[in-house]
Amino acid sequence: MNHEDVLRIVEAEKVKFIRLQITDINGLLKNVEIPWDELKNSFEKGTMFDGSSIEGFVRIEESDMYLKPDPETFAIYPWTDKGYKSARIICDVYTADGKPFEGDPRYRLKKVLSRLKEHGYEGFVGPEPEFFLLPKDPQTHKPILQFLDNGGYFDLLPIDQGEETRKDIVLALEDMGINVEASHHEVAPSQHEIDFTYDEALKTADNIQTFKLVVKTIALLRGLHATFMPKPFFGVNGSGMHTHLSLFKDGKNIFFDPENDYELSDELKYFVAGVLKHIKAITAIANPTINSYKRLVPGYEAPVNIAWSPSNRSALIRVPAARGKGTRIEVRSPDPTANSYLLLAALFAAGFEGIQEKLEPPKPVISNIYHMTPEERDKIGIDHLPGNLKEAIEELKKDELMKEVLGEHIFEKYIEMKEHEWKEFSINVTDWEINKYLWIM
Ligand code: GLU
Ligand code: MG
Ligand code: MG
Repeated sequence: MNHEDVLRIVEAEKVKFIRLQITDINGLLKNVEIPWDELKNSFEKGTMFDGSSIEGFVRIEESDMYLKPDPETFAIYPWTDKGYKSARIICDVYTADGKPFEGDPRYRLKKVLSRLKEHGYEGFVGPEPEFFLLPKDPQTHKPILQFLDNGGYFDLLPIDQGEETRKDIVLALEDMGINVEASHHEVAPSQHEIDFTYDEALKTADNIQTFKLVVKTIALLRGLHATFMPKPFFGVNGSGMHTHLSLFKDGKNIFFDPENDYELSDELKYFVAGVLKHIKAITAIANPTINSYKRLVPGYEAPVNIAWSPSNRSALIRVPAARGKGTRIEVRSPDPTANSYLLLAALFAAGFEGIQEKLEPPKPVISNIYHMTPEERDKIGIDHLPGNLKEAIEELKKDELMKEVLGEHIFEKYIEMKEHEWKEFSINVTDWEINKYLWIM
């Protein structure tokens, strides 16, 4: 779809408002709305905005920046605002002197993908984002930390109180051009998963952002609150975002090799080795919040140990059973608070380094890691993921490849921001401490 196509649709469909969207380094969507008749101008000249007010962007002295709408991303919202139709376009960020902004997460992903392309590779991704649907207080409209249902994996009405909302979400996603493959109640009460078709990496990063917006909006329209917070409840599964990756060359999935062990190519193994080599630093990107680490604990189907397996789900990287075009790896540590662009940039850059350097992965783990003792794991050299945000940030600081992937600008801002978050958390007094110490100490 090009500029003319979009302008034509806007006119024909009587779209009144266009939301120009970008993603900040926290992974949060930001937007500015323009009336429909400004869109032509925006395509031709860009739309100016104040970059100093977006998290992780620029200082006030260099704050004039431009949004360049990417016509490929045009989509009309399936909901209306007082009867007015709105659409959105995802934008690339440019500096006042017309260069792509080095600190734009979408640009960081584009950079990694174009390096892959130079070698004939094209990355594809399918995510499995999970989320909780929560009730809201009718007076304050704030979410209440209570289950909406007591459903579990694959449950249905009346146990599954999110079924109707999930259906509305699926229809809205389809309307916005995202093809849903399956949706179901997840393992924890009030928890859901909706899987959409894998696509080219940049498209999927955009789709993840759209997905979160649609889930939150539809929940809101139904008087609920949707959260992608990784572990809102202690004692039940948290929400992850398993990320399935594959690599194509000349239209063929190069992860598949019918002649090799498990029918998996050498490239797949090198790719896995690259991801495993950098996974501790990548954790700072894949699991970017304090709360992310409350999910990465034993007992809740989330990975803790650094290992890969051609089959079993206890490993950090699993190779699902599909072969041929569907051959892929599933990275199980990311959660949906990750910035989708930075996450995919980091994973593909690490995997690509593995291919270029022909890195050998450790032996795949066949038995269930959850059932091994720490001694057994030590014996076969299975290391573990960082235990908290602070440890992950320390790993990120040491990783030269990740510095290159994020670019100096994001690398510095990100570390500064996350260290601040850690410090804030460390000096706060939590409910847990009050319950534990107030009475007995
Ligand atoms: N909710 C689990 C997690 O935290 C994943 C469950 C699954 O889909 O296998 O990653
Ligand atoms: Mg799941
Ligand atoms: Mg999965």
